[in-house]
Amino acid sequence: MSEIVRVNNTAEKNTIKKRTFLGLLLTALLFLLGVAFYLLIFVRYPQAFFSRSFVMGLTISTFLLTLLFLCGLLAIVLSILQKRAFLPLCWVMDKTLLLLYPIVLLIGRLTHITQEKIQRSFIEVNNQLVRSRAVKVKSNKLLLLLPHCLQNDSCNYKITHDINNCRRCGRCQIAQILELASAREVPAIVVTGGTLARRAVKKYAPRTVVAVACERDLSSGVLDSFPMPVLGVLNERPEGPCYNTRVDLRALQEALDLFLTKNDISS
Ligand code: SF4
Repeated sequence: MSEIVRVNNTAEKNTIKKRTFLGLLLTALLFLLGVAFYLLIFVRYPQAFFSRSFVMGLTISTFLLTLLFLCGLLAIVLSILQKRAFLPLCWVMDKTLLLLYPIVLLIGRLTHITQEKIQRSFIEVNNQLVRSRAVKVKSNKLLLLLPHCLQNDSCNYKITHDINNCRRCGRCQIAQILELASAREVPAIVVTGGTLARRAVKKYAPRTVVAVACERDLSSGVLDSFPMPVLGVLNERPEGPCYNTRVDLRALQEALDLFLTKNDISS
């Protein structure tokens, strides 16, 4: 019984988490619509600096963009509710997330919603969209990206150069993560930042990525990688940020298995 209550609470919490970002996305859209209507009024009284045709062009572009983002938002909400992808609309969804994201963060700042809460909610939305696309790939076309802070701070082995330098002593979770990845023959890389993560993606040319990181790094990584699907798993910071962090291994395993066929999982 308590398990059912816990599952229900988690589901409710996830919905609330998604609502934060989706609500801000809608607010950003209304803001754009407001700008478009303002321009429509402005076009009647052109100022010396702007010609009427320039303001008219700007107004039409803003209305068209708003319409495009409205389609994107509707497709995102429908994909989440129906748990299935509307593949022809993926491009519009990606562009809506990518282009409205800075406005969402700005509105969040003005309304005193923390960046971390928005980023967490965005990752939740992104993960749901990635799940709904049900992409399956060969294990060598999936890449596991891990942050350096998962390694025990006192460990002297240089796993950023090669994760297999880990001696699997068990003082941190790298050993268990290695087991998960090698059992599935999924390449795993430990990176110290966004630049190295981008370099790894370029080098391995995966079709999909499972990334472990904090809210900030995950959200920027996901946006950088569009249209490639990136499933984000948030790290846990029991000792504070960037230091001896941890990850929910069950969530990580589920994330990896989501992209693999049954053969690859059991191999
Ligand atoms: S499990 Fe690997 S990375 Fe972690 S402390 Fe031991 S040797 Fe170092």
